[in-house]
Amino acid sequence: MSEESFWKKGSFAETLGPQDVKERMKTFHKKYDEDMSFNCKKCGTKISAHNKDWHACMCDECFNGEHFPEEAQIFETNLEEIEKICKRNEKENIKFYKFLKTDELNQKRY
Ligand SMILES: [Zn+2]
Repeated sequence: MSEESFWKKGSFAETLGPQDVKERMKTFHKKYDEDMSFNCKKCGTKISAHNKDWHACMCDECFNGEHFPEEAQIFETNLEEIEKICKRNEKENIKFYKFLKTDELNQKRY
């Protein structure tokens, strides 16, 4: 990808503007534990300037938790979905079961 298409493409460049990007690039190259003068917006723990600008103002733990949830968390939310789908299908299954038991079907079959 050429540099030009990068700046055209990303919302990154659109929302920040060239001057902001320059400012941000300074902290991008800072170490993750450098300039620890900020606080995580979620848990309030000390974070670096790098985390403030590049990790959505969160400590690594909160940032990872928010953007890359553990499989367990994904599974949990899926369970709720699965339950909903099961409840929905339950009615359909009962209908289908009743349909199977109807004489109409039996007549066709025999
Ligand atoms: Zn945190």
